[in-house]
Amino acid sequence: MYASHETYDAIIIGARVAGAATAMLLAKGGARVLLVDSAARIGDTLSTHALMRPAVALLERWGLAEKLVEAGTAVVTNTTFHYDRERISIPLKPVGSLPGLISPRRWLLDPMLVDAAVAAGAEVRLSTRFEGVTTGADGQVSGVVLCDPNGHAYSARCRLLVGADGRVSRVAGAVKAPVLKATPRGAATIYGYFADIPNEGYRWMFSPSLQTGLIPTNDGLHCVFASCPPADFRVRFGDDAGSGLVAAIAATDPDVAEQLASAGAAQRLIRFGGAPGHIRAGAGAGWALVGDAGYFKDPATAHGISDALLDAHRLSGAVLSGAGLRAYVRQRNAHGFEFLQLTTKIGALDWSLETLKLHHQRLSAIINAESAELSDPAELRVAA
Ligand SMILES: Cc1cc2nc3c(=O)[nH]c(=O)nc-3n(C[C@H](O)[C@H](O)[C@H](O)COP(=O)(O)OP(=O)(O)OC[C@H]3O[C@@H](n4cnc5c(N)ncnc54)[C@H](O)[C@@H]3O)c2cc1C
Repeated sequence: MYASHETYDAIIIGARVAGAATAMLLAKGGARVLLVDSAARIGDTLSTHALMRPAVALLERWGLAEKLVEAGTAVVTNTTFHYDRERISIPLKPVGSLPGLISPRRWLLDPMLVDAAVAAGAEVRLSTRFEGVTTGADGQVSGVVLCDPNGHAYSARCRLLVGADGRVSRVAGAVKAPVLKATPRGAATIYGYFADIPNEGYRWMFSPSLQTGLIPTNDGLHCVFASCPPADFRVRFGDDAGSGLVAAIAATDPDVAEQLASAGAAQRLIRFGGAPGHIRAGAGAGWALVGDAGYFKDPATAHGISDALLDAHRLSGAVLSGAGLRAYVRQRNAHGFEFLQLTTKIGALDWSLETLKLHHQRLSAIINAESAELSDPAELRVAA
């Protein structure tokens, strides 16, 4: 193994929403940043794409929301909750110059963030795997061991190591980040893309033991998903997954189910078997975790990307302002535990519809608080 003599202010492992956004913000603030990913290219990944207001507000602030719309991302101006046959429709307020929210495909959003990181001055190394950490005499993380595309290991030094390497984070393992809260495996999900569905905004549909939804995304397509308890998955989607998905939508909206059936089979249906949730410690001596690496929850509340971008904003703000890693962790945890708890309850799919409405009201209050955090002048100073 050879040692690189360069020292970075930050080495960030994982170049998707959490890592690329953190790299962009730290580099914009003048930090010397290395952004690393084991993938050869940053393309598509598991996601149903829905962004909540804080994420869109951040993308708008970073000058990326408009570019995403120019690249063909649908704008949604309405969100409808279907509680069985009852519908509650809520018009969405504009976000800056954008008339509503957006749900960009990950092959568009993630590389755009990587490009923005490069434009801000970050160095990017793909096909490069994080293998472990190096530590100083004081036990503080002092650098990383990386493996290049030819399989050669080398070390590089940094003042801050950022783990943005997803749910099964190797960085979290290497720094022994304690798990502060763990939740059981949530729902299993299937989704695919359908053309020729009118854009009526986000549609979130709930019926006993079932959550489904429609999310307008890129190229005139809707991402259509269904989630159910893992034990029901094979019965519902095992033999003919396409018909299973249409039948699941029909449970709350037979008209939309008909549109899906006549739109024809989605090109490919994607499956996610569900996974346990966690909140790990957000930072320690010389390291921090952002995105799923620090905080993963069931996709039931579609908030993972929003949290990843909020983490990037909070961590970079805390580092660049000198407020420190504790300030980052405090901000991340302010709503994180309650959000995880609510998501776990919703993802368990064993609520009554009345209880579910209360959960949604509380989630909405938290999302409003997150949006308010972004427009608070004191926060703006910290996270400038
Ligand atoms: C089925 C499903 C649907 C979802 N739908 C939504 C939704 O509608 N809205 C929403 O907000 N969220 C959604 N999410 C959650 C969202 O996808 C995640 O929260 C988000 O991808 C987290 O981003 P991240 O950057 O933290 O990590 P990831 O996207 O997991 O990226 C981690 C990166 O780290 C790299 N990496 C891993 N290990 C190493 C290593 N050892 N060395 C170098 N690189 C490494 C990987 O290659 C990867 O590129 C969904 C999740 C699932 C599973």
